[in-house]
Amino acid sequence: MPDLVMGIDLGTTNSAVAMITEDEPRLISNALGERLTPSVVGVDLDGHVVVGRTARELMVTHPDRCVSQFKRKMGIEWKTRLAGQSFTPEELSALILRSLKQDAEAFHGEPIDRAVITVPAYFNDDQRKATLTAGRIAGLKVERILNEPTAAALAYGFRDPGSERVLLIFDLGGGTCDVSVVDVMDGTIEVRASSGEGILGGEDFTRTMAARVLERCGQGFERAEMQSPTLVSRMLWECETAKRVLSRHDSTTVRIPDRSGRIGDDARTETITRAEFGQWTESLMARMEVPIRRALGDAGLKRPDVNEVILVGGATRMPLVVERIASMFSKPPLCGLNPDEVVALGAAVQAGLIAREASVEDLVVTDVAPFSLGINVAKTFGLERREGYFLPIIHRNTTIPVSRVQSIQTLHPNQRTISIQIYQGEARKIADNLRLGEFDVNGIPLGPAGQLVDVRFTYDLNGVLEVEATVSATRRTITHVVTRHARGLSAAEIAKAVKAMQALKTHPREEAENRFLLRRAERLFGELGADARQIIGSLLDGFEEALEGGDPAVIERHRQALKDYLDSQEPSEGDENEEPSDGRW
Ligand code: AMP
Repeated sequence: MPDLVMGIDLGTTNSAVAMITEDEPRLISNALGERLTPSVVGVDLDGHVVVGRTARELMVTHPDRCVSQFKRKMGIEWKTRLAGQSFTPEELSALILRSLKQDAEAFHGEPIDRAVITVPAYFNDDQRKATLTAGRIAGLKVERILNEPTAAALAYGFRDPGSERVLLIFDLGGGTCDVSVVDVMDGTIEVRASSGEGILGGEDFTRTMAARVLERCGQGFERAEMQSPTLVSRMLWECETAKRVLSRHDSTTVRIPDRSGRIGDDARTETITRAEFGQWTESLMARMEVPIRRALGDAGLKRPDVNEVILVGGATRMPLVVERIASMFSKPPLCGLNPDEVVALGAAVQAGLIAREASVEDLVVTDVAPFSLGINVAKTFGLERREGYFLPIIHRNTTIPVSRVQSIQTLHPNQRTISIQIYQGEARKIADNLRLGEFDVNGIPLGPAGQLVDVRFTYDLNGVLEVEATVSATRRTITHVVTRHARGLSAAEIAKAVKAMQALKTHPREEAENRFLLRRAERLFGELGADARQIIGSLLDGFEEALEGGDPAVIERHRQALKDYLDSQEPSEGDENEEPSDGRW
């Protein structure tokens, strides 16, 4: 029996865990029986931390107690306060990871602590380290950080590894857009080029819709965001649903909440058509084409060279996106696997490779560095010296792991120190690239200008960078693991974060369904009209009383009555993506 290793897709909007079972990668359901866990964390009214759908329900009624989209904050100095407690993005991600770990453990009936975690290909060094830290805080041994499009290629390549083809993976998630060009041949899955847009995803489509609809009602989105967060959070919820409905229908209506965020029986409604939504989001769709062109250019390919275009990420369910991609490639994209699940499935294949599962042992996977990495240097033009130029040491789309050396020299006589400034990006001037870190090389022997220092960049399979500088004359080496915000926390800091996490109050897993139902009922109580509120109120009273009584049969009876009524008032949102839409799924 191989060791157990999980594959985790830690998404901006949803997360999922998968493992190889019976020779196939499979998603593992959470405590609510769902395969996707919303990446939302909240502190409930009783002070317990809640995650997933329960937190997402709470977010509508109590936006100040909840946070989502924290993946966009990974790797930067940022904290949020929820009900008086402070959380970093790593801690919030760790709470999601811990919940997925518990789901996998409940499924297998034994502790599991090894994991592969996926990140957008375009995640930089800080963001990757933050993901590693989140894993460690959640009590995981992170075996590999895997690029999301590479995971998707694995999920598809796993099925028919022998047949030779070029895949283009287009991944539009909640917050990021990644593109990879991949060769599949003789059991080898080789990423040739990756590119991406860090801040472009489905959430931008939702926000654009919310902004346009509010505009129609004479309100500015940004102003509303400041003045009435509850209104905006309810509005985003409405638009999220409307966006999904527009993936199946030509038009839909959105109900406009009042200033307090309530949607009464007499709420104003606005009709939105798919064509209109297409016009509003034209600039977002034009931005999607940029990474496609760049990835193809880097791979030295033209659009007709691509045999299969694969769509990944929930936002590729939008027909507008599918049409755009189809017209770019003059062929319909492939969507054999569910786009929300394919990354987790691919992570499970990689996890299987690490665990030496027999069903995947013949696969070989290679990936690339998605951006160039280098240092700041001065250039001499005649007698004039100009500072601030980027010297790439590892060029983008080099196969990883990779280690490259570049010699630099002192500029002045008797210069004892060189400052190595590390950057990521493609621009000629460092000012336009992302600064990753800096360290000093001291102890250069006295002498004329031109003393040599060898700078070695090593980029590992996780996409984590280490820089080493060696003074040629003395052979003294200084090693620097790049950490801009000290995000690669020390062992003591991790231990402290783990302890803080354990101290958080959480509900037992078996109570998850009841907690979720309570939150959903509270939300609908706030949203619906007087008659429905009265019915929900009395069903809730009965359910709460039953929970206090502790008799399982009574609890179940009240639970079912409440659930049936809530379902009759709104379609269960999870169903939206279950059935085939437009013949695609
Ligand atoms: P992911 O990060 O891959 O889970 O993608 C999440 C994004 O997909 C969110 O912005 C969702 O709003 C979006 N999404 C999921 N289902 C649909 C759908 N049926 N139509 C449009 N967008 C969707």
